[in-house]
Amino acid sequence: MRPEPIPERVAAALRELPSPACAYVYDTAALRATAAALRAALPAGTTLLYAVKANGHPAVVRTLAAATDGLEVASGGELALAVAAGARRVAIGGPAKTDRDLAAAVAAGATIHVESRHELRRLAVVAGGRAATIALRVNRRGAGPAGSHRMTGTPTPFGIDEDGLPDAAALARSLPGLDLVGFHLHAVSNNLDAAAHAAFIEDALDWSLGAAARAGFPLRYVNAGGGFGVDYTGAAAFDPAALSGIAVPDGVELAVEPGRYLAAAAGWYAAEVLDLKRTHGRWFAVLRGGTHHFRLPAAWGYSHPFTVLPVDRWPYPFPRPEIRDTTVDAVGELCTPRDVLARDHPVARLRAGDLLVFPRTGAYGWDISHREFLRHPYPEMVVL
Ligand SMILES: *Cc1c(COP(=O)(O)O)cnc(C)c1O
Repeated sequence: MRPEPIPERVAAALRELPSPACAYVYDTAALRATAAALRAALPAGTTLLYAVKANGHPAVVRTLAAATDGLEVASGGELALAVAAGARRVAIGGPAKTDRDLAAAVAAGATIHVESRHELRRLAVVAGGRAATIALRVNRRGAGPAGSHRMTGTPTPFGIDEDGLPDAAALARSLPGLDLVGFHLHAVSNNLDAAAHAAFIEDALDWSLGAAARAGFPLRYVNAGGGFGVDYTGAAAFDPAALSGIAVPDGVELAVEPGRYLAAAAGWYAAEVLDLKRTHGRWFAVLRGGTHHFRLPAAWGYSHPFTVLPVDRWPYPFPRPEIRDTTVDAVGELCTPRDVLARDHPVARLRAGDLLVFPRTGAYGWDISHREFLRHPYPEMVVL
């Protein structure tokens, strides 16, 4: 695979950094462009929310709050971020909402994706008669589309089984203040097959009509979740145009809440090569950075491609370590052999002092990483 070109504005920002350089660059124009393209592909009237857990940097959250219809949050902390970002619309999910989270959600006027009967009862107590818009999160009988994380059709802590829905709906409608509008059906993460995802959403709409009828309430809201995929290692792409043909029933609001798809391509993680060395026949580029900043490749067990950004500065009075036309493992600064971002990555030329730039790291990068391990300094956060 040819190295992916780094946009000049990103490269320019990286060249400004003091050595040893280590940074995330987030480009707000790229965030807006992705949101606009996705919005244009979705059926008219679809509510587009951004799932904050993919990247909770305040500038990212603010940008996407303005570029979408609102934000989906999964904790009290994310809810506070969403309110601070001025989100016009907020939905909250997650199987472990505390009473404090529920109270904040009611106060914020959020749509609450309720995950169990017990949570319904707690919500009614916390709301104390104040109005709360709710949808029941469902763990459907059948499996959802393929992807890297499966949340339904299998035992998980998420949602309510189909068999329990009539009971849960009856309970919701008997509790004061709760307005049951529909279902939440997030089922998968990182599905690269957009046509299959469109079929999943159509099926979710169809199933929801039947389930609401069986439970005896008018369906007004179906949230099909996120899960739109990003291909980190190949050239496949989730083509949102496949979603445009989805038929949304009259009177029903379709909502989607992608995280990865909206944020990934607007982020670049970059780290300077501190050392270039060969042990037991293998080249290693040792970075000022690593999996404590960008955990995804280690968590998922893949090599994340990078592009070499040449840096001409060389402050030492001795020759610069350099390799040409070979392959290298990009490894981090942690004292563990698992601190690997890429293995056997081809390089035309790489020198100590150059930067490795990892594109598509704007989602589930910094946010999921164990940043305190070994107490190295954090990366710079550069917002364009
Ligand atoms: C994580 C999550 C999302 C976003 O998932 P992506 O795969 O990033 O699109 C959306 N909704 C819920 C409920 C989630 O837990």
